[in-house]
Amino acid sequence: MSSRDYQVFRETVRENFVATCSYCLLEERWAAGKENFELDHFRPQTLFPQLRMSFYSLYWSCHVCNRLKHGQ
Ligand SMILES: [Zn+2]
Repeated sequence: MSSRDYQVFRETVRENFVATCSYCLLEERWAAGKENFELDHFRPQTLFPQLRMSFYSLYWSCHVCNRLKHGQ
């Protein structure tokens, strides 16, 4: 398994969160598109490695929020 194989969920998670950051509610259309968004592991991979591939631990996040949240 590759360390980034959870990216297979990218489009599905994005649709579930209606293309909006789950933390600051920024919509992609105001942030130059989906390339400025990424998958966040709501439960950090470092603390919950068993959830790394869990769809339900993946949240849609803008870069800024994901950087601020980081391992929290
Ligand atoms: Zn955000």
